[in-house]
Amino acid sequence: MGLIVQKFGGTSVADPEKIQAAARKAIRAQQQGNRVVVVVSAMGHQTDELIRLAHQVNPRPPAREMDMLLSTGEQVSVALMAMAVQAMGYQAISLTGAQVGIRTDSIFSKARIRSISTQRVQQLLNQGQIVIAAGFQGIDENYNITTLGRGGSDTTAVALAAVLGADQCEIYTDVDGVYTTDPRLLPEARLMDYVSYDEMLELASLGAGVMHSRAIEFGKKFDVPIHVRSSFSDIPGTLITTEPESRTRPVTGAAWVRNEARVTLRGVPDRPGVSLALFAPIAQRNIAVDMIVQNVGADGRADISFTVPHADLEAALEAVEQTARELGAQGVDSNNQVAKLSVVGLGMARQTGVARRMFQALAQAGVNILMITTSEIKISVLVPEEQGLAALRAVHQAFRLHEKPEDAPPPHQGKVQRRGSSNAVAVVEHLRGMEDLLVESVELDDTQSRVTLAGVPDRPGVAAQVFDALGQQGVFVDMIVQSFGREGLASLSFTVNQQDLAAALRVAQQVAQPLGARVSHAEQMAKLSVTGVGMRSHAGVAIRMFEALARQKINIDMTSTSEVRINVVVAREDGSRGLAALREAFADAMA
Ligand code: ADP
Ligand code: ASP
Ligand code: MG
Repeated sequence: MGLIVQKFGGTSVADPEKIQAAARKAIRAQQQGNRVVVVVSAMGHQTDELIRLAHQVNPRPPAREMDMLLSTGEQVSVALMAMAVQAMGYQAISLTGAQVGIRTDSIFSKARIRSISTQRVQQLLNQGQIVIAAGFQGIDENYNITTLGRGGSDTTAVALAAVLGADQCEIYTDVDGVYTTDPRLLPEARLMDYVSYDEMLELASLGAGVMHSRAIEFGKKFDVPIHVRSSFSDIPGTLITTEPESRTRPVTGAAWVRNEARVTLRGVPDRPGVSLALFAPIAQRNIAVDMIVQNVGADGRADISFTVPHADLEAALEAVEQTARELGAQGVDSNNQVAKLSVVGLGMARQTGVARRMFQALAQAGVNILMITTSEIKISVLVPEEQGLAALRAVHQAFRLHEKPEDAPPPHQGKVQRRGSSNAVAVVEHLRGMEDLLVESVELDDTQSRVTLAGVPDRPGVAAQVFDALGQQGVFVDMIVQSFGREGLASLSFTVNQQDLAAALRVAQQVAQPLGARVSHAEQMAKLSVTGVGMRSHAGVAIRMFEALARQKINIDMTSTSEVRINVVVAREDGSRGLAALREAFADAMA
C-alpha cells in the first residue's frame, strides 16, 4: 500500500468550497489504495492578518507570542479539513504540530525541525484515518509552540514524507507547478515538467516563492520526490527529483528577491579574521547573509558589502555597527531600494559565456549592476529595485527560458517512482537534528589565479564588455565578484585557471585602458569549497569556515555562497592548511 503526503497551501483552502475540494483530493488518493497524510496551511491570507493584528497591540511583538499566535491559523484549517472529510463519510483526524510530534529548536519564527516521531501518525493511518497535520509549526523542548518561517508548511510536508517513507509528496498550490520564473511577474514564464533538487533549492532560496527552500533540503537529503501541482486543475505539474529537465541548457530558471537590502562597511582593515568578526554576530541573530563581496583598497583597507533580506536589515545593522567600531572601520551604509536577480542552472558549471550573456542582456536593457556574485550553479546581480522587473524579463528572454529545452524527456504522467535505495535516513541519523547541516565534501582547487580590474566606472555595460572580451578569447571564468562602488567606481574580480591567466590578463588590460581602470592579479590562488545541503540558509556555515581559517591566520580574498556550496579563495600557499582546517571543522556534519 502506498503512502502519499499531500500539502495544500493557503489559497487552496481559502474558503469552505476549496476546503471541500481539497478533502475530495485526499479521499480520492485513499480510494486509489494509498495511506494519506494531508498537511494544511492557514486559510488564505490568515497569517498576514494575524501579523497585522499583532502589530496593532505591540509594534515589536515578542517572538514567542508571535509563534503562539501564528500557529492558530493552521489549527483552524486542519480542524475544518478533518470536518470536511468526515462530512463526506470518511475517517479523518486533525493534529497540531505538537500532536504529530514535530520537535524543533527554540528559534521562534525560524525554527528548524529536530525530530518527528511517527508512531502516532502510523497508528492512525493503520486505522484507516486520513491524518490532517498542521503545517508550519512544532514545539521546542519546553513545549513552546514554534513556527518554521513563512511558507514553512512545505517543509512540514516534505519532512513528514521523509520520516514516513512516503512514495511522494504532492504540493498543491495556486499555480500549475514550477515555472522558469514567477508566472505572475512574467506571463511568458514556462511550466517545467522536471527540475532538480539543487536547482530548485537555489531558485527557492533566491526568490522563487513557490516552494520553501528548506522543504527542498529535506527532499534532497531523504530522497523524497516532490510533485508541485495545481489545486484547481489536473495538469501534471512539476516533478522535483535528482534529475534536471535538460542536460544541455546552461540556465534553468530565474528569480528575484525584490526585498533585498545591501550593507557596506567602508575601510575595514584587510587581515585574517575580519570576515569572522563581521559575520559571526549576524549569524548569531540567525540572519542568512548573501552576496558577500569585498574590494581591497591600496591602503590595506577593504570595503565589504553583503546583502540580507529587507526584514533582517535592522537587526543586521545593529550587529554590524558594533563590529565596525571595534574593527576601526570608516563607516557603514546601507540601502534597501535594491533587488537581487539570479539565474540558476546545473549546466552553467560546464559552459563558458553564461555570465557574458546575462550581463549583455542587462546592458541592453539599460540596467546598472551594483554588485555581482557567482557560484558554480548561479549568478546573482544586485540592481536598483525599480529596474528589477525589467532585468528579470531581459534575462529570461536572453536565455530563451520560455522555450522548452530540446533534450527534455517526455512529460511525466504525475506518477513518480521513488529511487528505492536511499541511505539518506542512515546518513542523517548521526546528526543531532534532522534539519542539521549535512556536508558532502570539502575540497581544494589549487590551480586558480585571480584578476582584478579596479576603478571601473559604475555604469551599465561595463561587466558585459569585460566578459564579452574574455568570452571571445575562450577564457573560462570561474568565480566573479563585483564590489559595490565608491564614488562611481567599482572593482571587478574573477578567477580563471592558472593556464588561462596570460590570456585573461591581456584581455583585461585591453578593456581596462579605455575605462581608466587598473588591472592587478594574483597568480597563485586556491579555492576551498564546502559542499552540502542548505549551506546558505544555515546561517552558521560560512562562519564555521571563516572561524577555521582565521584560526590558521589565513586571509580570505573572495567568498561565494550558494545553497549547495560555499567557496573561499585564499593564497595558494595556504591551500592545504586551509583544507585540513575545514575538514576538521566540518567533521561532525560530514555525510
Ligand atoms: P501556497 O499558499 O500554495 O504555499 P505560495 O504563494 O507560497 O502558495 O506559492 C505559490 C506562488 O509562488 C505562485 O502564486 C507564484 O506567484 C509564486 N512563484 C514564485 N516563483 C514561482 C515559480 N518559479 N514558479 C511558480 N510559481 C512561482
Ligand atoms: N501559513 C504560513 C504562511 O503564510 C505557512 C505556509 O503557508 O506555508 O507563511
Ligand atoms: Mg507557500
